[in-house]
Amino acid sequence: MAWRIPLSDIEFGPEEEQAVLDVVHSRWLTMGAATQEFEKEYSAYLQCKHALAVANGTAALHLACLALGFGPGDEVIVPSLTFVATANAIRYTGATPVFADITSQNDLNISPQSIEERITDRTRGIIVVHYGGYACDMQRIKSIGDKYQLPIIEDAAHGIGSEYEGRMLGTWGETGCFSFFSNKNMTTGEGGMLVTNDDDLAAKLRLLRSHGMTSLTWDRHKGHAWSYDVVALGYNYRLDEIRASLGLVQLGKLGVNNEKRRQLTRHYRDLLRESAPEIGIPFDDHPGVSAAHIMPILLPSRTNRFEFMEHMKSQGIQTSIHYPPIHTFTAYKNWNKTDKPSLPVTEEAASREVTLPLYPSLAMDDVSYIVDQIQAGLEK
Ligand SMILES: *Cc1c(COP(=O)(O)O)cnc(C)c1O
Repeated sequence: MAWRIPLSDIEFGPEEEQAVLDVVHSRWLTMGAATQEFEKEYSAYLQCKHALAVANGTAALHLACLALGFGPGDEVIVPSLTFVATANAIRYTGATPVFADITSQNDLNISPQSIEERITDRTRGIIVVHYGGYACDMQRIKSIGDKYQLPIIEDAAHGIGSEYEGRMLGTWGETGCFSFFSNKNMTTGEGGMLVTNDDDLAAKLRLLRSHGMTSLTWDRHKGHAWSYDVVALGYNYRLDEIRASLGLVQLGKLGVNNEKRRQLTRHYRDLLRESAPEIGIPFDDHPGVSAAHIMPILLPSRTNRFEFMEHMKSQGIQTSIHYPPIHTFTAYKNWNKTDKPSLPVTEEAASREVTLPLYPSLAMDDVSYIVDQIQAGLEK
C-alpha cells in the first residue's frame, strides 16, 4: 500500500551514497577506519568515554546484560511497555525479566516506585527505556540503583540525541544501548552502539562483541598483533564499515533532524489541544530535550482503536501502536509463573495508544491534515 503519509521515513541523500561508495572502493569492509571514526564521533557527541559499534540494538542489550554478569536465577527489572527485544536480551542470559509498571497516562516511562516494589534479594539490575526519547526519572532511578547496588542499563533506542539535566541519555546508567534500525532517528539499516564511562565494562563488552578474542583482524592488519587468545565465550556482534560510514553521515545530520522532529511535535500538540482536547498527549510538559522519536497519543477510552486506525488508513495515514505490552505476548505468558504481573497503568495506556507519523521531512501542512482526520475519526 502506498501511504499518503507513512509512519516514518529515512533522511538519505547523496552524502550517504558517497559514503557507501567510498567504503566499497577502499576494499576494507569490517571493523576498520570508518568504525573507529564512528565510535570516536559518537562518544564525543555523547560526551562519554567509550562507544562500541555493534550489529544492532538487540545485540547491544544482550552484550550489556552479559557484561554485567546476569545469568540463571537472577532477576532484572524492566518495563513491559517497550519493544520485546528489551526483555528478550535478559532472557538470552538465562536471567528473568521482572516487569515494572509505567508512571502514569502522561508519563509512559517506567515508574521508580514500581521498580522499588519489585526489588528482591535476587534482583541484579534495572533496564530503563526512554519511551519516545523522553527521559525516565533518572535521578530517582539512579538513587534506587545506588541504594540497592543495582547497575542500570539504558535502552536509549528512542533517545539518540536526547538530553536530560544537561546530560545525554545513554550516559546516565552503567551502560547505554542504541539502535540504528531503519525507523530510528539515525539509521544504518541494521546497527547499534553501546556506550559507557567504565573502562572495565568497556573492555568486557569489546571482548564479547568479537568472539572473546584478545586481538582484532584490524590490529593484525596494522601489524599491532600476530596472534590471539580466546578468553571468554563471545559473539560476533560487530558492525561493518559500510554501516559505520552511513552512521557517520547520519550522526552529522542528527541535530538538525531532531530539531525538526521537536518542531513537528510542538505543532501536533498545539493543534491537538485546540481541536481534539479529548485526546491524551503523553509527555506534554516533559522536562529535558527529547529526540522526539515517535508521536504517541492516547485515544479517549470510549473510542474503538481498531476503527480509528482503519479510518486513518482510509485517509492514507499510517499509524501504529507502541507497544503491545510484553507480558501479554504468548512467548511471555506463564513464562514466570511465580510473578503474575499486575500492570494496570501499562495496560490502560497500551489499550488507548496510537502512534502518529513523525519524521524530519514531514510537512507542517501534513500535521494539520492528520489532526483534521483525527477529529473526523473521533466523531465517527
Ligand atoms: C529498535 C529498538 C530495539 C531493538 O533494536 P534493533 O536494532 O532493531 O535490534 C530495542 N529497544 C527499543 C526500545 C527499540 O525501539
